[in-house]
Amino acid sequence: MGNRNYRFETLQIHAGLDKDTPSGARGISITPTAAYRFQSCDHAARLFELSEPGNIYTRLQNPTTAAYEERIAALYGGVGALAVASGMSSVLVAVLSLAQQGDNIVASPYLYGGTYNLFRCTLRRLGIECRIAPSVSAADFAALVDERTKAIYVESMGNPTCAVPDLEALGQLAKAKDVPFVVDNTFGAAGFLCNPFDWGANIVVDSATKWINGHGTAMGGIIVDGGNYNWGNGKFPQIDGPSEGYHGLNLYEAFGNQAFIVKCRVDGLRDLGCCPSPFDSYLMLIGLETLSLRVKQEVESTWRLAEYCRNHPKVKSVSFVGFESHPSHENAKKYYSMGSSAVFTIELKGTLESTVRFVESLHLAAHMTMIGDSITVVTHPASTTHKQLGEADLKAAGVTPTLLRISLGLEHVDDLIADFEQAFSCVEL
Ligand SMILES: *Cc1c(COP(=O)(O)O)cnc(C)c1O
Repeated sequence: MGNRNYRFETLQIHAGLDKDTPSGARGISITPTAAYRFQSCDHAARLFELSEPGNIYTRLQNPTTAAYEERIAALYGGVGALAVASGMSSVLVAVLSLAQQGDNIVASPYLYGGTYNLFRCTLRRLGIECRIAPSVSAADFAALVDERTKAIYVESMGNPTCAVPDLEALGQLAKAKDVPFVVDNTFGAAGFLCNPFDWGANIVVDSATKWINGHGTAMGGIIVDGGNYNWGNGKFPQIDGPSEGYHGLNLYEAFGNQAFIVKCRVDGLRDLGCCPSPFDSYLMLIGLETLSLRVKQEVESTWRLAEYCRNHPKVKSVSFVGFESHPSHENAKKYYSMGSSAVFTIELKGTLESTVRFVESLHLAAHMTMIGDSITVVTHPASTTHKQLGEADLKAAGVTPTLLRISLGLEHVDDLIADFEQAFSCVEL
């Protein structure tokens, strides 16, 4: 692409296009293949021992996916990106590439539900301990870090309260402790709203199912390598040491500051198998072309709908990082370019029953568990994502019977307000 100084809006359309020049087509072709022909046995051997880059098998590489990965790496300013089949597999592959049996990771208490369960249950069974800090303060994280800590892990905007951690302070802590700083930046919309690499992150994971795809049409996840961690510090023998799977090859010596993302691909994808479909990579490329426009519109509508809800007599409270009353307001202003994402929560007056009635009366806003979709989504945690929790756990998670999470889509905001108005009128207090 020549000039690397293009802005986000330009890169979201152009980065990765030159991966597919022979036909001259403007569109990127979908390459629906599982395998690739080798030129000779020698050529195949060089590919397999990683001494020559090239396509072997779509579990490891695919041209459509490569264009998508190049675009993501450009948007984040990383040295490389890896596309995987879902946001959860991006978390899994990133963490398993860092931590082994006997190691630990230190994580934020404000985590996506799937991530929380992965860390607390599945990784524990594999012998990797997850230490959940009591808060996102750097001091609370520092107290839990020891010589077996292989990641400091946070979300740039956490579930379900939209808590925004002090990324800069945590980045400094990670640097001081010489531990990789991993940030789930799903809410940061591919770096458009928030780019954790600006604040000391070393690795970003992102659920592409949300704002990157943007239309609710495919699952996906990405891992981005900032290329800014010293893997040669002795803590990561699986990266700077003889690789059992590749005849003793040392990934750090062979790939330098791209060693981590290569590790995620050649061990992570090869062994865990969570590769994306080329068709889904295509959908992500199309989604990315309009990401900045969609997100700007959604955040603008979020302000309007949140204001409307704040003034509504049937609403008890509104929790929106754009408002000064939100505990993360200052951090959101600092780390999110628009001071907010497109998600907020409201608590209705009334009961569980009247809240269910409100949700079921909405015509436009969809009742789903989803964020970042072009359709506005209303989620009722008490009857869905958090239904299995007892009363005490619900309280701890901040989930009350009348809490609703709203993720703004692209409808005209006046139509959404009218939809809310008629649904409120169906609710007796
Ligand atoms: C949705 C989400 C995930 C998981 O992503 P999937 O694509 O659903 O697997 C991880 N982290 C956050 C913050 C999410 O919102």
